[in-house]
Amino acid sequence: MALLVQKYGGTSVGTIERIEAVADRVYKHKQQGDDIVVVVSAMSGETNRLVSLAKSVQEFPDAREMDVLLSTGEQVTIALLSMALMKRGLEARSYTGSQIRITTDSAHSKARIQKIDTEAMQADLDAGRVVVAAGFQGADELGNITTLGRGGSDTTGVALAAALKADECQIYTDVDGVYTTDPRVVDSARRLDKITFEEMLEMASLGSKILQIRSVEFAGKYQVPLRVLSSFVEGEGTLITTEGNNNMEQPAVSGIAFNRDEAKLTLMGVPDIPGIASRILGPISDANIEVDMIVQNVSVEDGTTDFTFTVHRNEYDQALVILKDIAEELGARDVLSDASTAKVSIVGVGMRSHAGVASTMFKALANESINIQLISTSEIKVSVIIDEKYMELAVRALHSAFKLSDCAAGISEV
Ligand code: ASP
Ligand code: MG
Repeated sequence: MALLVQKYGGTSVGTIERIEAVADRVYKHKQQGDDIVVVVSAMSGETNRLVSLAKSVQEFPDAREMDVLLSTGEQVTIALLSMALMKRGLEARSYTGSQIRITTDSAHSKARIQKIDTEAMQADLDAGRVVVAAGFQGADELGNITTLGRGGSDTTGVALAAALKADECQIYTDVDGVYTTDPRVVDSARRLDKITFEEMLEMASLGSKILQIRSVEFAGKYQVPLRVLSSFVEGEGTLITTEGNNNMEQPAVSGIAFNRDEAKLTLMGVPDIPGIASRILGPISDANIEVDMIVQNVSVEDGTTDFTFTVHRNEYDQALVILKDIAEELGARDVLSDASTAKVSIVGVGMRSHAGVASTMFKALANESINIQLISTSEIKVSVIIDEKYMELAVRALHSAFKLSDCAAGISEV
């Protein structure tokens, strides 16, 4: 018998039929003797509908009222699902975030969880009831309704699992797990049985948007085993967990992530003196533009250097205007920019114990005559910036160079 927190996303509760299907699944687990806490999102499209209702009243609605409005989406699904469970003869009880007493700070629309009261939920579980909790919401010390940011029901699921010391937090969604790369790009992409929190964070932040990143950080911090599964097809999904100590059997690379939306900006010939990086990036960050990769070249003999960084393509125009001003101030020789670049990354904790991973990557790209414009590395990741035109080709080449379609990749040498 296990205590499971099962989170169902918007598409999994998008219609009454889907809600009935969730109830069937919960019923089945309950019959097997598991204790279940269900966390639900709003029905798909509902949160967006509420946002546009608000915007039709006022362009910038009050943040407190916005949270009162958006939290209603989840309130609908907890009630409907509880009814569907009762119809099946189960005892169930719904809770909004504030009824549970998920206490958050007062940062409306991006609140952080501070405390969770488990007493009422535990009493329900002990009495054999299914707890049905609204995702995405809580209340501050004063009882004001707050929300946790878009996609925040994942975080609710993980937080409840951590607070209740659940055996597993299962995230039911419309994909059946985490893949070695996007199957729309590589049709032989394979579902991973297991991935570490760190790898998942790299994969998620690099564009494999399955889980809210915050929920993965949360799960890692509190060591909550997290499983991504499909609510549409049966399967084991992907278990996200801590690294085992069988490092040698790890494949060097677990997955290939990519991001089409990178734009590259370079300042040529800026003075190579202390403080130059902060003079360049200070105004960029003041404008709230997120910088991804940063590369500074070695100094050339005349005491100048070149400085390159990448930003999201949406922020490219704004970044370029700011950079042109800085270039003038610093007397830079030139500003180069390219909005049609993409980032491709290989990710894997196995890199820690395998040599030659980066060179295998570079060779695979060279074989396809793909030029690398920038390289950056971390302990478990190597990323390159390339021309966007070659992104899919690069992903396919790397997927095959690291034998990711092959189930035996786990023990193959690269
Ligand atoms: N309903 C909220 C949203 O659409 C929260 C969630 O689904 O996780 O962002
Ligand atoms: Mg979601």
